[in-house]
Amino acid sequence: MVQGLKSKAAVIGGGPAGCLCAYFLQDKFDVTVFDKNSPLKTLLPTGGGRCNLAHAEYDFRELASNYPRGEKFLYSVFSKFSTADSIEFFEKIGVKTYTQDDMRIFPVSNSSADVRDKFLNSLKQVKFIKEEVLRINIKENNFSVVTNMGAYNADYVIISIGGHAGYDFINKLGHNIVEPRPALVGLKTKEDFSDIAGVSINGILFTHKGVSGPEVYKISSLRARENFPYSLSFSFIDDIDFQSLLNDNPHKSIKNLIGEYVPKSFAQYCLESLNINPDKKCYAIDGKTRDSILNKLKHFEVTVTGTFPDGEVVTSGGVDLKEINSKTMESKLIPDIYFCGEVLDIDGFCGGFNLQNCWSTAFVAAQAVLDKAASF
Ligand SMILES: Cc1cc2nc3c(=O)[nH]c(=O)nc-3n(C[C@H](O)[C@H](O)[C@H](O)COP(=O)(O)OP(=O)(O)OC[C@H]3O[C@@H](n4cnc5c(N)ncnc54)[C@H](O)[C@@H]3O)c2cc1C
Repeated sequence: MVQGLKSKAAVIGGGPAGCLCAYFLQDKFDVTVFDKNSPLKTLLPTGGGRCNLAHAEYDFRELASNYPRGEKFLYSVFSKFSTADSIEFFEKIGVKTYTQDDMRIFPVSNSSADVRDKFLNSLKQVKFIKEEVLRINIKENNFSVVTNMGAYNADYVIISIGGHAGYDFINKLGHNIVEPRPALVGLKTKEDFSDIAGVSINGILFTHKGVSGPEVYKISSLRARENFPYSLSFSFIDDIDFQSLLNDNPHKSIKNLIGEYVPKSFAQYCLESLNINPDKKCYAIDGKTRDSILNKLKHFEVTVTGTFPDGEVVTSGGVDLKEINSKTMESKLIPDIYFCGEVLDIDGFCGGFNLQNCWSTAFVAAQAVLDKAASF
């Protein structure tokens, strides 16, 4: 850095994480955000266009328990910047928020486009360069950020390229990448559910070639590191005294009786898959048939063979947390290089957790850069 001039900070990736980091750095640094696309474009589809920007969990350990990857790492991160800080930041840039009954936090405008506009407006001192970063060269006293168009010097580099781009240049810096895999997605199954496509029970939606819906997204996250195929068992019925029900409804068809507990088309599908006539009367159901029906509804097995790119689609995997200092987000391998957001091996459930990871890790990285620069 030349005496009297501001240090240069290069933020690679202008998604939610990179932009929040740039926001906190802009007063003290000469900040450039490099993005091969338009900044904050990835914010637009969030929350179905409404931007579920955080989750109303104010205990940071509880908050961290919603991350199948990164829970312990996030303790120190969330102790520095958590849900209340995110809300405060958004208030400051003119985005008022509200909390839904399910604890998801949204902007009052219910518009991710509005959040994006206000966020971009708050980055007045940041320079944006629409180029793709290909490489970071480590020089004697600083870095050279090499793009598809040129090369730029930087004193500090913050990498926030998300989970959907290549990790090549990070690999070349010597960082280990935990193999990326999709999470919060629909699951392909060996079974064909064309006959019940569209049926939804307890957050599980049947599709032609698999299962989807909120419960399935959560399962896809919990089991994201498992190899295919794996089996799942769903329970679609609570504990019931099935024999008493059969006794009390002797002239009802078995399909109609079960159809009081699950959608009728699903009842029909289960009975047919067990080779039971759905119109059979309850009085004619013997003990063995009764147990097979109950077993099907309580342990509905599917074999998962892959994933579908629906849902939030976050990446499990990314930059290995063992190589990152959780107090600063600085690389343990290369001083003055920092990481934040989904590029890290951190991912959470649906509900605002993935954006919270971006806000929190971005703040911690920015604060650490500010502290380091102030110490010189
Ligand atoms: C459909 C959908 C809905 C979602 N809804 C929610 C929600 O409501 N709440 C929630 O918490 N989370 C949600 N998520 C997840 C959330 O959007 C992500 O976790 C978040 O965007 C990650 O932010 P990031 O800044 O780390 O990376 P990204 O948002 O992926 O941004 C990375 C940026 O880096 C740029 N880039 C990549 N490589 C390079 C390169 N080599 N050179 C230059 N630029 C580069 C990209 O163009 C991109 O702009 C949703 C995800 C999806 C897909």
